Amino acid sequence: MRSGKDIIILDAGSGLRALGRALLAEFRNRPLSLTLLLTHTHWDHIQGLPFFAPIYDSRCHLRILGGKGARKGLINALTGQMESTYFPVPFARLPSNIEIEELRDFNLNIGSVSVRAQRAHHPGLCVGYRLLSPGGSVVFFPDAESRPSGEDHDMIQFVHGADVLILDSQYDTTEYKKHIGWGHGCVDDSVALALKAGVKQLCLFHHDPDHDDKRIDGLVDHARRLVAGQRAKLKVTAARELQTVELPFKPVSRRN
Ligand SMILES: [Zn+2]
Ligand SMILES: [Zn+2]
Repeated sequence: MRSGKDIIILDAGSGLRALGRALLAEFRNRPLSLTLLLTHTHWDHIQGLPFFAPIYDSRCHLRILGGKGARKGLINALTGQMESTYFPVPFARLPSNIEIEELRDFNLNIGSVSVRAQRAHHPGLCVGYRLLSPGGSVVFFPDAESRPSGEDHDMIQFVHGADVLILDSQYDTTEYKKHIGWGHGCVDDSVALALKAGVKQLCLFHHDPDHDDKRIDGLVDHARRLVAGQRAKLKVTAARELQTVELPFKPVSRRN
């Protein structure tokens, strides 16, 4: 997320590799100062970090904030994946300036962006973030099992009125029935939550690895039919690589 000079990265999945290259190309001779907000330390949310090129640049400053990691703390969760069993470059040898902080305060400011965190229904300690910038608000819940049909009042309150909600919508209802309690949501519940919370745009996320593009397009169509059935205005898209959303609202565009 960009707001003025502030660059906030949400989670460190495999997309971090392409982002790192793009940032280095853009900033070339200028030092990068970045904040990374982690929702939790499950592997799909941290595995991109060793492949994030800016951490090999001595001029880069990276502040990482996240929950304490299920057992060993946030620092051990992040540095452990760079031990010699798993990776050739140990964390301690990185030339960049990296600060890792466990999230103690669920309300904080990062430059021009005010950030709130809330726990998500997901195994271990996992949070979602609400980011309010001068351009608008974005809520990010990549891993969250919404309660049936948007009946989760804490979530509805936290998400309320967001310009963009990026939400775990991994399953359809049939798949979800086989995965209740796994900590991931289904499209129908995501739509119900977004409608109840008066969200403007819902971005389906945490796609199932077994869903191809066609299947995801089908889930988006299904979500749009649910919205139309309620005569609501909610816009639904599926998150995709290199997608850009501009706030205040402009049409969604792709960089490539
Ligand atoms: Zn997870
Ligand atoms: Zn995940």
